[in-house]
Amino acid sequence: MQNSWSLPMQSKNYEIIIGLEVHAQLATRSKMFCRCAVDVDAKPNTKVCPICLGLPGVLPQTNDQAIKLGIRAALALGCSVNLESRWARKHYFSPDLPKGYQITQYEHPLAEKGVLELPGFDKKVRIRRLHLEEDAGKLIHSTRKTLVDFNRCGVPLAEIVSEPDIRSVEEADAYLKELRLVLRTLGVSEAEMERGHFRCEPNISVRPRGQKKLGVRSEIKNLNSFKAVREGIARAVKDQIEWLQQGKEIVQTTYLWDEKLRELRPMRAKETAADYRYFPEPDLPPLILEPFEIEEIKKQIMGTTVPSNQGTTVSFDVSFVLPAQKRKEWLEKGLKKQDVEVLVAEPEWERYFIQLSNVGASVKEASTWLLNEARGILAERKETLAEFKVPVKELASLIKLLRDGKLTRPAAKELLAAMADKGRNAAELMEELDLGGVSDEGLLEKTARKVIEENPDACGRYHKGKTNVIGFLLGQCMAKLRGKADPKAVREMLMKLLSETR
Ligand code: ADP
Ligand code: MG
Ligand code: ZN
Repeated sequence: MQNSWSLPMQSKNYEIIIGLEVHAQLATRSKMFCRCAVDVDAKPNTKVCPICLGLPGVLPQTNDQAIKLGIRAALALGCSVNLESRWARKHYFSPDLPKGYQITQYEHPLAEKGVLELPGFDKKVRIRRLHLEEDAGKLIHSTRKTLVDFNRCGVPLAEIVSEPDIRSVEEADAYLKELRLVLRTLGVSEAEMERGHFRCEPNISVRPRGQKKLGVRSEIKNLNSFKAVREGIARAVKDQIEWLQQGKEIVQTTYLWDEKLRELRPMRAKETAADYRYFPEPDLPPLILEPFEIEEIKKQIMGTTVPSNQGTTVSFDVSFVLPAQKRKEWLEKGLKKQDVEVLVAEPEWERYFIQLSNVGASVKEASTWLLNEARGILAERKETLAEFKVPVKELASLIKLLRDGKLTRPAAKELLAAMADKGRNAAELMEELDLGGVSDEGLLEKTARKVIEENPDACGRYHKGKTNVIGFLLGQCMAKLRGKADPKAVREMLMKLLSETR
């Protein structure tokens, strides 16, 4: 099947160039320059004050937490953080921008020159800059009128701008997913796309293969889903190739993505910096940082996740370890790629996994019983880990019962399903459901003798050298024991008795 963003054949003659701008909402409680709560879902226009409404005679004040989160993100992306950065006003007219300008950073951003490695692509995308700014409000359009909600005015954002290093729709997708994961993992942003916490503006150009000079770019405004990004970029590439083939000149343009028609609607010819009449923000002093402040934040993101050999320690607050570092550590511990991605991308699974390791499960046991079995059960029931009725301690007991030979694997699976249903203690429920393994030598021997008696032919063949008959006899024993014995012990018992009856 073709992806909705797959490109036509003739695109092979062109090189696709993409640079991405991302606006990530910083996970602060209050706004960037005032004390209003960040709560965009509140009743419209209830989280506002004279500062974020842009009334005259008030002064903005920077939010320290937003700055810290910005630095954390910048360091995670390998950027150098500037000891001095500056605020600027970016002017444009919009009904959702009551001040008539946005406070942002322009010539002196918070951080510059970073890099993001795309997992699975063996590729690094350079980050041009990361700066802080404030969001605008929201327009709500209905058929007869347009309403405006200012709750979002002044909400802190980090804008992260890549170099034009991305070469395909797939790479763009991977870049965004990894960036989002970094921000979420470090608690910098909730980065929920559907809630507008993570918005992407792709810049796209194409050039004939071999040409050095970059083509003229199209920019697509504020895309809110991975799908829209993929489809929007593919559309821009197709359009541009077509224009070039028709000998048309491409004019730098800003577009809106029409999700329904799957078309790009020109919004305006690209504005230049001059259109924004940037100038230094007179109401805010430069943002000055001390080296130790940056060092402190740097130390936070240098932790390691993986429990040590004995599974007894977690050396650092796991929420601050970078995804790339986690991947490396879990892979070294022998986890499969697919399991590693679960741990890296889903913090609640990671937390459970680590706790399980800390109470004695090996990485192998934890991946089998948590990431395969329990995850399978929950997926089937369309439930989340939060709804899982088995506490860490009880899953650990189940694993130990299995390890000690008190449960067979099939019985352990059955027990886990029952525990997930009833939320009961492993050992008790094992007794109650009579799932415990038969480790009683006497019963094993009695059963094996019975099976030998009942199958003289098979035993005869065994004695004549058809040793694989043992599999059949074993099956008979296991059936009588309802699968609850350790097959290895039963096989040994059978061999012993058969050699005696020879
Ligand atoms: P603006 O703020 O005007 O959009 P920037 O210089 O900040 O401009 O660049 C925005 C983004 O466009 C960056 O991510 C950059 O990598 C990308 N970009 C610049 N030139 C091109 C091009 N010719 N083709 C594709 N992307 C480009
Ligand atoms: Mg732009
Ligand atoms: Zn306010």
